[in-house]
Amino acid sequence: MSRLVASRMESLGTENAFRLGADIQRCVERGMDVVRLNLGEPDFDSPEHVNRAAIDAILAGDSHYCDPAGLVELREAIAGSVSATRGLAVGPERVVVTPGAKPPIGYSFLTYVEPGDEVVYPSPGFPIYESWAGFVGARPRPLMLSEESGFAFTAEDLAGCLSERTKLVILCSPSNPTGGVLPEGLLAEVAAVVRERCHPDVRIYSDEIYEDILFDGESHHSIASLPGMEGRTVLVSGMSKGFAMTGWRLGYAVLPTAEEALRFRQLNINTVSCVPPFVQRAGIAALDRERSAAAVATMVAAFQRRRDWVVPALEAIDGVRCQSPKGAFYVFPNVEGVCRRLGVFEAYAGLASEAQRRTSPAAMLQMFLLYRHGVATMDRNSFGKIGAEGQHFLRLSIAAGLERLKEGVGRIERAASDADGFAAFLDDERLWERS
Ligand code: PMP
Repeated sequence: MSRLVASRMESLGTENAFRLGADIQRCVERGMDVVRLNLGEPDFDSPEHVNRAAIDAILAGDSHYCDPAGLVELREAIAGSVSATRGLAVGPERVVVTPGAKPPIGYSFLTYVEPGDEVVYPSPGFPIYESWAGFVGARPRPLMLSEESGFAFTAEDLAGCLSERTKLVILCSPSNPTGGVLPEGLLAEVAAVVRERCHPDVRIYSDEIYEDILFDGESHHSIASLPGMEGRTVLVSGMSKGFAMTGWRLGYAVLPTAEEALRFRQLNINTVSCVPPFVQRAGIAALDRERSAAAVATMVAAFQRRRDWVVPALEAIDGVRCQSPKGAFYVFPNVEGVCRRLGVFEAYAGLASEAQRRTSPAAMLQMFLLYRHGVATMDRNSFGKIGAEGQHFLRLSIAAGLERLKEGVGRIERAASDADGFAAFLDDERLWERS
């Protein structure tokens, strides 16, 4: 009984934002113009002084293997920046540089979580949390964020997800996909619950990758800053979002102890060896806040202007409800009314049960928007599937120029009243099997 692919691969999930590329490509090959509101990356280029630092490093021959934990100069810059912004005293021995803010998610599951341990994570949330929970055989405990409570949660909600098996608790602020921001008061209450209810070995994973993208004068707070929490928190951030450096692959984790940092370093050694040194030189330039401030501010102001346009524009569509995000660069409208107008629920009910398992009403709407109206979005289930039945949302990235955003929302508005088009789409594309 030879098998090509090991069975553990069955339980590894994915990030649909990348998978959707094949569908978009198919539409482009058919000659369609697609407005891409699916991917979470700034539509700005990395700042000039950042580019220059990497180019200079390459020309100077800084293109060899380096410390798997990261260049000490970058780790010092990260330690200094995190210490100053979070009111901590972090040293470089607790910092590990990684290729983006995504690897520390898997590293944390591999380092801390045994099969059967419980992992609490926000849902809707970044899909890689749920993916790794499945991969390591953890028991997933999604902390459901409801639209009625503004996609926020209370300390009691979190407490309700904890048990003696809890090993990892994931927080994300500002949030992908909701744009929610965890206020300092709530973090203090959460910290109190963790101190009271969790063994000191339970780790909080604080995903702060959107820390620089905040609207309306909001400020960023980290649970690591609260009493007793620095020694329990894996604080993760990076350069991808705040400095428009998604393709550079540069992020970092600040571990509670130097020993834990060595584990992450070891995982780097076993996978990527190190992050390219010239990329790290660019990271040092990015963290020079004085030089980067203007580029960051320009980008955040653009995101806020787009948010201010897009939220009322979406709300004006019959069947759409949309809250206003406080940070990150996404809107997460409820599209239940559109699904009803188009007959999506009836179409979903008519699918074979296997097909139903592989899709959802929001995902069917998502495909209709893409294949018939040329606008790429993400569906609710792309942000955690467990417990998401009956929730009908789409995520739109506002990291697209205002003109494209207007075009995309205009297409959604036209699609929302195209019930005949939806029926024809089901017949023509046959993406899902009927029962
Ligand atoms: N965490 C969250 C919440 C994200 O949205 C993303 C990127 N979409 C990441 C982590 C990963 O970031 P990176 O590209 O730096 O690996």
